[in-house]
Amino acid sequence: MLLTDALVLHAFDYRETSRIVRLATREAGVVSAVARGARRPKNRFGSGLDLFSSGVAHLALHPTGDLHTLHAFDVGRARPGLGESLVRFRAASALGELGLRVGPEDPGGAVFAALTEGFEAIATAGDPTVCAETLGAAWRLVAAVGVAPTLTHCASCDGALDPLEPARFAPRAGGALCRLCAALAPGARLIPSEARAALVAWASGAAVVLEEGPVRRAHRRLLREFVEEHLADRAPLRAWRAWETEDR
Ligand SMILES: [Zn+2]
Repeated sequence: MLLTDALVLHAFDYRETSRIVRLATREAGVVSAVARGARRPKNRFGSGLDLFSSGVAHLALHPTGDLHTLHAFDVGRARPGLGESLVRFRAASALGELGLRVGPEDPGGAVFAALTEGFEAIATAGDPTVCAETLGAAWRLVAAVGVAPTLTHCASCDGALDPLEPARFAPRAGGALCRLCAALAPGARLIPSEARAALVAWASGAAVVLEEGPVRRAHRRLLREFVEEHLADRAPLRAWRAWETEDR
């Protein structure tokens, strides 16, 4: 039996009486596990398997299969606040989806740590700062699996970039490009210097203020395009796309 810190990213009903949960764990990466009897009244999981809860998972890891068994979950922090505001819920869902997708490549609990920090930030943020907090957490999550974008130098030739100049951003090349390399990368998006400064700030863990509307949408799109380019299966991020079109 493995006892490990874990975070509930997804949960759905399974057969008559059970639930399947997808957990980000400190020691076993992102895993799927069946919680037998979790739908029975007075079951031993209680409300512990609510979305975005943190706790200690008691896992029996299946030696060969992908579906493990969750014997118990001791809730440490439930975060009901994430479900009480639509703004926070949608943002947390988008971040959770990102965690599920990058999670299998989790090196040593980095995805678990980045997600825990992100959910905590969203849970305690006021509505106006939810977007920037979520984007910051998402970029740090991407960095945690080793695919952070290059921002201060050209991702192609390594030449220095003027921080005050707009630059083209090419997900396939791995980040921002100098003028010469951008000419050879059709489709690279021109991003203003403030947008690149925001990405640099998020990478360092600093807070960023984003105005409502198009700026927020553009930042969400930039991250999604970057992540979809770097995910092995290239499948769309659905919850992220739903969040992306919001104004808040
Ligand atoms: Zn270059």
